[in-house]
Amino acid sequence: MNSARPFAYSGKDSILCCDGVQLDRLAKKFGTPLYVYSAEQIAGRLKLFQESFAEIPHLICYAVKANSALAILKLLDAQGAGFDIVSGGELERVLAVNRAAAARVVFSGVGKTAAEMDAALRAGILLFNVESEGELELLAERASKQRKRARVSLRVNPDVFAETHPYISTGLREHKFGIDIRRARRVYREAAKAKYLDARGVSVHIGSQIRSAEPFGAAAERVAGLIRDLRRDGHTIEFLDAGGGLGIEYHLSLSGDDASGAHSFDPKEKVTQYAAAVKKAVEGVSDVTLLLEPGRFLVAQAGALVTRVLYVKKNGEKVFVIADAAMNDLIRPALYQAHHEIVPVTRTKSKKRVVADFVGPVCESGDFFARDREMPALKSGDLAVILDAGAYGMPLSSNYNSRPRPAEVLIERGRARLIRRRETMQDLLAPETL
Ligand SMILES: *Cc1c(COP(=O)(O)O)cnc(C)c1O
Repeated sequence: MNSARPFAYSGKDSILCCDGVQLDRLAKKFGTPLYVYSAEQIAGRLKLFQESFAEIPHLICYAVKANSALAILKLLDAQGAGFDIVSGGELERVLAVNRAAAARVVFSGVGKTAAEMDAALRAGILLFNVESEGELELLAERASKQRKRARVSLRVNPDVFAETHPYISTGLREHKFGIDIRRARRVYREAAKAKYLDARGVSVHIGSQIRSAEPFGAAAERVAGLIRDLRRDGHTIEFLDAGGGLGIEYHLSLSGDDASGAHSFDPKEKVTQYAAAVKKAVEGVSDVTLLLEPGRFLVAQAGALVTRVLYVKKNGEKVFVIADAAMNDLIRPALYQAHHEIVPVTRTKSKKRVVADFVGPVCESGDFFARDREMPALKSGDLAVILDAGAYGMPLSSNYNSRPRPAEVLIERGRARLIRRRETMQDLLAPETL
């Protein structure tokens, strides 16, 4: 499965389907707003990554925060993926899927607590990606308390610029992430003194939604250079963790609908270019296992948010399409000014198009999915689909405005399976007292 998306129109009524399953049926059965994901697309993306690095020792550690649904973690685990986690909660999710997967877990994040370290040590994770000297000190203390050796990789900040949204750029010295690469050798020397720390790797992650391969190559090259230095210093470095961050194309119309043809996206070509840049950078380091932490690339295009139009209203010249999904369900447009393609579930013969704001019911002006967007005319009761919502959608959702979170459905071999039921008001009220 190498197409950009699993969503396509089919049948004489031209109904939008996910891997052949009609989305109007799913909306009827499970209600809206509804997240729908393709298992085949996610597994296919993982396979693309695995094949692109097949000739060198590697482990693809899926970044759990992109979409932490248990069913998605389970399908990736079954295909041999490892996991990149950023909290004790994400560790719990991985362990709930498969306790043995702990051996394939790398733990990133700038603010690990003692309790999170203890849990990860108990579970026996592969590697702690340590992001500060303070964290290294605390980890040494926790590991010695448990008399368990902690395998450590320092996340270095390579000071590489990558073109992306400032909120998801992480590889510059001014960002909170990692340890300045110029200080790294000194920190490894400190780490080597701790009895229960094993410095085994170097890691890097320069940001998210990065579309060119070049900055990944530049960052990996700096890390490779550091590994050579560290080995000369006497450290046993086995792992080079090149992080995640490979982007997708959000400005991609559904095939057949594309009038301009301005944007294209070939996932296989993207991974191949990315892999070539990373592999070239690590050519000069022998006996190293490459770790990669893709998140968005594996799941973004596999998922969509199905929503029903509540009202269409006009304020002066402006048209507002008010849907039952809102920023609490998918915050990317509000948070990052992110673009999502929006398409109707039923493709009509009518060529009528309007320029409209596609918004949710939440009481915030930031609650929009598209502004001044030309789109097919929709009316109250119509279903629409917000595409490419598989990554950083549901995991960033909230109950703002006391809105229960959407249900999630996974399409597997042409069948839809509810993998998370819609929240109820009881779920929301449960932790509170009067
Ligand atoms: C968020 C994150 C990733 C995944 O980023 P994507 O852009 O989703 O691929 C990988 N590694 C670390 C350390 C991260 O914080």
